[in-house]
Amino acid sequence: MKFSELAAYLDQLEATSGRNELVRILSEVYRACSVEEIEPITYLIQGRLAPFFEPVEIGLGERLLMSAMAMAYGKTKEDVTRSFRQTGDLGLTAHALAPKTRAETPAVVEVHRRLWEIAGTSGEGSLKAKLDLFAGLLGDLDAASAKHLVRITLGKMRLGIGDPTVLDALSFAKQGDRSLRPVLEAAYNRSSDLGLIAKTLWAQGVEGMDTIKVTVGKPLRSQLAERLPNPEAVIKKLGLVGVQPKYDGFRVQIHKDAREVSIFSRNLETMTPMFPELVAATIALPVKSVILDGEAIAYSPASEEYVPFQETTARRRKEGIDEFATTVPLRAFVFDIMFRDGTDLTPLPYEQRFAIVDTLLKGSDTLQVAPLTRTDSVEILTRELLDNISRGLEGVVAKRLDSPYQAGARNFNWVKLKRNTSGQLTDTVDVVLIGYYGGKGKRAEFGAGALLAGVYDSDKDEFVSISKLGTGLSDEGWRDLHRQMSRLEVSEKPARVNSLLVPDMWLRPEVVVEVLADEITPSPRHSAGKVGDQPGFALRFPRIVSFRSADKKPEDATTVREIREMFEQQHQRPVRD
Ligand code: ATP
Repeated sequence: MKFSELAAYLDQLEATSGRNELVRILSEVYRACSVEEIEPITYLIQGRLAPFFEPVEIGLGERLLMSAMAMAYGKTKEDVTRSFRQTGDLGLTAHALAPKTRAETPAVVEVHRRLWEIAGTSGEGSLKAKLDLFAGLLGDLDAASAKHLVRITLGKMRLGIGDPTVLDALSFAKQGDRSLRPVLEAAYNRSSDLGLIAKTLWAQGVEGMDTIKVTVGKPLRSQLAERLPNPEAVIKKLGLVGVQPKYDGFRVQIHKDAREVSIFSRNLETMTPMFPELVAATIALPVKSVILDGEAIAYSPASEEYVPFQETTARRRKEGIDEFATTVPLRAFVFDIMFRDGTDLTPLPYEQRFAIVDTLLKGSDTLQVAPLTRTDSVEILTRELLDNISRGLEGVVAKRLDSPYQAGARNFNWVKLKRNTSGQLTDTVDVVLIGYYGGKGKRAEFGAGALLAGVYDSDKDEFVSISKLGTGLSDEGWRDLHRQMSRLEVSEKPARVNSLLVPDMWLRPEVVVEVLADEITPSPRHSAGKVGDQPGFALRFPRIVSFRSADKKPEDATTVREIREMFEQQHQRPVRD
């Protein structure tokens, strides 16, 4: 496939406002792919060169791209800057300046290879080399191709194609329907690598999915916890459980092999540079290869206290990590092991996996075992919950001792129990911002108004509205939020958003916000959980608690299924202390 053909498909995808249509066009792209093409194309349609967890950067920002365009199109930098001011989008500038057509254009595979080469160019003189290579590439491309190439390079592809949409499209392309999705999804949960799945499916068919194994260096999708309203419900449903404190830190998946240690976040981003202490402690473990799951939390030796999540994540800023490592060093409470010295441990019952963790971490101070209390008693579980809350922790997680590690699943193998203030929901809801209302009169001057928020429908891969949010922010805070959101504004409803309410401005669904609400109520105005004439769900009295984009992708927001369960559980008797 020529890159110009892919660009034509990307144009079609960009113009689409419905999710089914996205799947249809994407499956057409896949049908036109050879085995060699399908892997790079899978990354490129998501605006990347490699899977999400590989931190490959092309390393050319706006200013350098403008220089490359001037070189490629025989213009002055001023010409390019002027055009950029008019369009506000460097992709459109490239489109305006490049020739509409070219006699010979490169294949997708070649463009992908050349972008890799640019990304891999480092060291002295590398900027000039990157610039020359990029200008050379632009010089070979027509207008539509140049537009998409520039957007990919800047990380500004706006198609909003989520991973489940890619899986559906692959299934349609191979089988003509959605029936392969569960097998593909299982392989995806083990590897998080859509390009690998696509290539294997094309080369070996569905049977090939068995060859995609748990591998050091490829994060597994995290196992997640369900909710139940109180200890009675937990013991009734699960019987004997292992109870652990629920730490409010930063989820870490730690991978080690002979070559290196990598640390992935809950949303599978590579975070290794943020955690030098964890890397050092992992290197010291007596194993050749291992994958661990745990929660990292900053610990202040001065006050002998754990530091809350927000401060732990302050480390995302690159500067000052070493200083943090001495003043508030991190510990990780390890609660699971998925792989050790060549063996996939995920099928083992939790009790056995925990025993392996316990033995492995003996002697490590930085990597601690999350303590486990075995019980089938409501009294003991209640006591554990209240003890942990009084120690300033979030609550507890109760785990079935006979359960395997089910990557990517949220089920009753793990149940979280948190504090419950009477009458309120036991848990916060993570919503995605999908639009805003500008506000009228004086408030509009400040850009003040309300936000429209949605939750995630994981079956349909859509964001469905659930609430308007007044923010409780000061005017200054609002202006700040507004500035951050301006890069997400779009005039048309994004393809994967489903909302009956129409805000003044749509937002591409990216920002995840944690919200506390009093209650979930039925509502005909919102599309979350709405089926036919049945009402959907709304949040009553929502308040913003925190911004969660640091560790959650929009697809990690609360799902419609969870909202339905929370709705059903909210009138059951809560825990009281
Ligand atoms: P929350 O918003 O409540 O943190 P979440 O959506 O991030 O939840 P959940 O599945 O609801 O994820 O809760 C599980 C999370 O709790 C894990 O992702 C992990 O980060 C954290 N956690 C803390 N302590 C434990 C523990 N002992 N076992 C498992 N998970 C734990």
